[in-house]
Amino acid sequence: MLRTIIVFALIVLIATAAVWLSDYPGDVRLTWGGYVVETSVVIVGALALVFAVVVALLYRFWIWIKHGPGRIGAIFSDRKRNKGLEAISNGMVAIAAGDAVEARRQAVAAEKHLSGEPMTLLLAAQAAELNDDNRAASIYYDRMMKREDTEFLGLRGLINRAITEGDLKKAQALTKRADELRPGTAWVLKEQYELALKLRDWETADQTLSRMTRGKASKGEAVRRAKAVITYEQALIAVKEKRDADALSLAEQAHELDRGFVPAAALVVKLTADKGASRKLHKLIAETWEHAAHRDLAEVIRKTVAGEQPRDWFRRAKETVAPHNPDHTETHLMLAKAALASNDWGSAREHLMKAGGESPPASIFRMLAELEEKANADAFAAREWIVKSSLAPQDPLWICDSCGRQEEKWHAHCPACDSFDSFTWRNVDRGSHDPEMIEAEIVREIAPTN
Ligand SMILES: [Zn+2]
Repeated sequence: MLRTIIVFALIVLIATAAVWLSDYPGDVRLTWGGYVVETSVVIVGALALVFAVVVALLYRFWIWIKHGPGRIGAIFSDRKRNKGLEAISNGMVAIAAGDAVEARRQAVAAEKHLSGEPMTLLLAAQAAELNDDNRAASIYYDRMMKREDTEFLGLRGLINRAITEGDLKKAQALTKRADELRPGTAWVLKEQYELALKLRDWETADQTLSRMTRGKASKGEAVRRAKAVITYEQALIAVKEKRDADALSLAEQAHELDRGFVPAAALVVKLTADKGASRKLHKLIAETWEHAAHRDLAEVIRKTVAGEQPRDWFRRAKETVAPHNPDHTETHLMLAKAALASNDWGSAREHLMKAGGESPPASIFRMLAELEEKANADAFAAREWIVKSSLAPQDPLWICDSCGRQEEKWHAHCPACDSFDSFTWRNVDRGSHDPEMIEAEIVREIAPTN
């Protein structure tokens, strides 16, 4: 509207000026060097007007030229961007399909069209991993880590790389950074927990496990067990460092967390006995035997009285330990051994028979042979028991559920496969026959063959 008024006003002004000029005609004379130009004022006015119009048009043209290339550039860069996005999408499909060559080709295309974009970096890193080019993958993850928008993603890649390369310390430091960036992320906590276990960093393992289970209504048996093992290992360190009070307190905590956990039960009995707290020890022996009756615990209980005669130990075991778990195989084994040592043949035989059950392990037969020889000097009968022992199932041991490693002593980590808390007290023969596997085999056997 304003523009129209201005144009209209200009036209009126020019017309008025033209009329005015024609009413007052005049001449203009211009002398320059040897030239002389003579003309009327009207012509000069018209020329000035044409000149102004030409200048205005030139100015507009210059403005168009100035912004023109940007407009043309934008069209080209959109096309480039679309090509880049297409390469990223194709590359991701190739990665999902496990096509390493195609993934690398698309990663190169994406880098050409969309260099430095977060998705381009991710595609390049994943393609490098798929091509087993770990060094390149690390470089791309590193670049991602240096950008604010992809730092977390880059960290994840680098953590996985460090774990694969066995650099657990580096992986741990990276998970710390990831935890700072996004505290409480589930996968970060899980990695942190597993790394802490592998590095025997019990304190971090304990804290991380607490964070993982915080706010969860039911703290499962498995979690309590893991905490018991971690606390027990901390108690062992305290024992080694002669921090007696800490050691006892930690052993008590571990035992409290899982009363069936034999090593903790044995340790808490030993440390309480060392402290000389006899009333407490008495109650503790009863309680631990009730929940964790075991060969290793019986041995610790036996040693709580220094210099005890075999006969005294047998009486003590019978009167103060056995009643708290009278029918357990381990109770009968403990009593049989104690009776044998104190030459009480009748009791030894009775408890050996009870401990053996339906398929007595080899050690029962060996003890029966010892009994026969000591009590009756019957070498023939003894030999018979020895033959039977060679055919009997093997005695229970601490066996790794992951790799089958057999150990006399319980370990938090398997010395062979480094699995955490994988040792269970069982027979070698059992467990190697998984009931489900047997069932599957049976199904296969009875299925009609074609
Ligand atoms: Zn193992």
